[in-house]
Amino acid sequence: MKDDNGRVCIPIQMRKEMEISSGRSIEFLADGDKTIIQKYEQEVPCIFCSGMHEVHAFRGTPVCATWQNWMIRLH
Ligand SMILES: [Zn+2]
Repeated sequence: MKDDNGRVCIPIQMRKEMEISSGRSIEFLADGDKTIIQKYEQEVPCIFCSGMHEVHAFRGTPVCATWQNWMIRLH
């Protein structure tokens, strides 16, 4: 499922079923010996400030860019 650049290719049929358009963010979750692929819901607000600006999953938690910077400094 990986090409020469280490990118993971998702079969077109799966993309249609998951309604993943090209450029859409997805995330991979490891669950035992399985890998779960799911659409990354960018509509999820930051858990700290409820902001929607540049929210990304940080260790599985939706956190905006401002708080990600803080968490990286704290860890
Ligand atoms: Zn925030």
